[in-house]
Amino acid sequence: MRILVTGGAGFVGSEYVRMLLSVPGSTHPDDPSVGPVAVTVLDKLTYSGNLQNLAAVRHDPRLRVVRGDICDTDLVNEVVARHDVIVHFAAETHVDRSVHDAQPFVTTNVVGSQTLLDAALRHGARRFVHVSTDEVYGSIDEGSWTEDTPLSPSSPYSASKAGSDLLALAYHRTHGLDVVVTRCSNNYGAYQFPEKIIPLFVTNLLDGGTVPLYGDGGNVRDWLHVHDHCVGIALVQEKGRAGEVYHLGGGTELTNWELTVRLLEACAVGPDRVVRVEDRKGHDRRYSLDTSKASSELGYAPRIDLERGLTQTVQWYRDNRSWWEPLKAGATP
Ligand code: NAD
Repeated sequence: MRILVTGGAGFVGSEYVRMLLSVPGSTHPDDPSVGPVAVTVLDKLTYSGNLQNLAAVRHDPRLRVVRGDICDTDLVNEVVARHDVIVHFAAETHVDRSVHDAQPFVTTNVVGSQTLLDAALRHGARRFVHVSTDEVYGSIDEGSWTEDTPLSPSSPYSASKAGSDLLALAYHRTHGLDVVVTRCSNNYGAYQFPEKIIPLFVTNLLDGGTVPLYGDGGNVRDWLHVHDHCVGIALVQEKGRAGEVYHLGGGTELTNWELTVRLLEACAVGPDRVVRVEDRKGHDRRYSLDTSKASSELGYAPRIDLERGLTQTVQWYRDNRSWWEPLKAGATP
């Protein structure tokens, strides 16, 4: 099985690559019978892409890394032609950046996804796994979204992801391309670029600084450990039905204030480190995914509870200053 992982030098994509290569000769950590695997990472290495994220597997002969843009049609065709399965993570991902400048989001997330889908179709890819987000649904005050809920994105980021989701599903309906879409909640774990709330807050606190909390801190997010997310994506890759969407959530909803308190405790500091800042424009109040479809059809079940996962994550940032300090200083990784 030859697997192309776009965005494989980013936070979630690199965890997926490390997971794929974690069992010798197997595609799945729990199922060595799946067969041999070769993995190619296609990554532009933007500010959030970092080859250090792949350091643990960089000498693995099954891994190849291609630096390139998913919008580059010639390159994408050349690379896609040599693969059976595409797992598509590459994206511009930070909502705040999309509020200031939406253009790279539309280019990479929409045009880049379409470029990959065209190439997958042209070269007869066996499966295209499109990794997306719960943010495409907008905000929900009560209850949870199912996979059939209409999309209602609020930010340029989520609108560009919604556009790419719909394109991916359209390639299935129009052309019969084997597409599966995953939508997950907020991920956390090691190697997350320190602009997202958990690594930003933890690294600020470890540096003796303050943390900027948006608005009243009442926005609710569901937290999913990045490894559980990747195990879920592997299940969808192997067993998901073509043309279907699957939700992958953590089952741990917290307000941003509740999350902040946990991070303060983990770093052994008090609430005086919190600075309230003006809310983000268009800030969704609550996200909540119904994950029963992935559970019942695929056996999906997140295993890392939030307390253990957060403790390990904070410890990882304590132990890996050499990874994040240059990123916070604005240095090229
Ligand atoms: P990330 O920002 O850490 O990584 C994105 C990767 O894509 C980087 O390696 C970057 O270099 C690469 N990239 C960006 N533009 C590219 C281009 N034009 N061509 C090739 N490579 C390019 O993001 P992440 O958190 O790892 O997210 C991965 C995927 O998961 C995204 O599609 C995102 O929408 C989705 N997702 C993430 C989360 C989360 O909490 N992290 C939640 C829901 C969905």
